Amino acid sequence: MNKNFPFIDLSAQKDLIEKNIKIAIDGVLEHGKYILGPEVDRLEKALEKYSSVKNAVTCANGTDALSLALMAWDIGPNDAVFLPSFSYISTAEAPAQLGAVPFFVDVKIDTYNMCPDNLQRCIEKAKSKSLKPSVVIPVDLFGQPAEIIEIEKISKEYGMKTLIDSAQSFGASIDEKKVGSFGDATTTSFFPSKPLGCYGDGGAIFTNDDELAEKLKSLRFHGIDSEKQNHSKIGFNSRLDSIQAAILIEKLKIFENELQSRNKIAETYTKELEERFITPTILDDFSSSWAQYTIRTDNREKSIINLKKYGIPSMIYYSTPIHKQPAFKNYSNLMFDLSVTEKLSEKVLSIPMHPYLKDNDIEMIIKALNS
Ligand SMILES: *Cc1c(COP(=O)(O)O)cnc(C)c1O
Repeated sequence: MNKNFPFIDLSAQKDLIEKNIKIAIDGVLEHGKYILGPEVDRLEKALEKYSSVKNAVTCANGTDALSLALMAWDIGPNDAVFLPSFSYISTAEAPAQLGAVPFFVDVKIDTYNMCPDNLQRCIEKAKSKSLKPSVVIPVDLFGQPAEIIEIEKISKEYGMKTLIDSAQSFGASIDEKKVGSFGDATTTSFFPSKPLGCYGDGGAIFTNDDELAEKLKSLRFHGIDSEKQNHSKIGFNSRLDSIQAAILIEKLKIFENELQSRNKIAETYTKELEERFITPTILDDFSSSWAQYTIRTDNREKSIINLKKYGIPSMIYYSTPIHKQPAFKNYSNLMFDLSVTEKLSEKVLSIPMHPYLKDNDIEMIIKALNS
């Protein structure tokens, strides 16, 4: 039994790039521009190039990235913001913090991502309650992009903004087009365990809208104007540290290789597990960045025990959907059809997934699950 089997092994990657990371950090120590130093600018340019988007605005974390975009659009009380309940809490936290109403939309049973039909019904329901449909936040759960094209079409029909939460899907694509260039804006997170993670908190907003990018740069820096003289808006403090930017520049260099490795592992998992488990459905022309590899089973408890026998950790994302969290009980009068979300929360199980999983570990995970 292996007692030190990590769910996501960050040390394997660190060992590989440690030398360059240390040189990068030393560079920041040398020039001493710890906040908005040259690395932040360099990283933003590298992200723009990678994602083929005009503007990448970095910030302190993926939750702030959502808040900053909503603030830039003046979202507040009476605005309904549509988002999946089957997500991490941040997606709902950001609109709720601004006094807007998080309206929970059900997901599809096969992709675990926002269901466009259910979105349409939720918008009508919000209107009947005198709320203003303002923003839709599809989430690219576990690394697969949401059905952005359909969702944006509905969003536009109602005059709404589309803000994509790509915290889990940096590097994923639809029709070979990387996430980041879809919708009105896209957010991501550089939390250490995300597909592209730093060594602390970090986040970014991507947009092709130059005016929005300028507003975001101001809001992340206390609402300062472009001449850095006056504070023209009430903003907040949400910048990415120069040290984290320096680390991300190095990590971005090996990211494509890591993505290939994740895809190869996912392929093996699917081939070996699809007989006994419901394995992930990736839509045609979609590619996932495999933040998680999540299976579905009626015997979840037994699978967890089987893995544990081999010392293999597993996680349940998400055992309590956001609409069932105590903090969101005040919105319960707005919840209606979340049956798929509730069913999924009882059956999903995420197994170890990271680019440095060794062949014999993968074999052991498969053997444990099939036993
Ligand atoms: C991780 C995550 C976030 C938040 O990112 P932080 O950087 O931790 O604030 C937001 N949405 C989703 C779907 C996430 O998985």
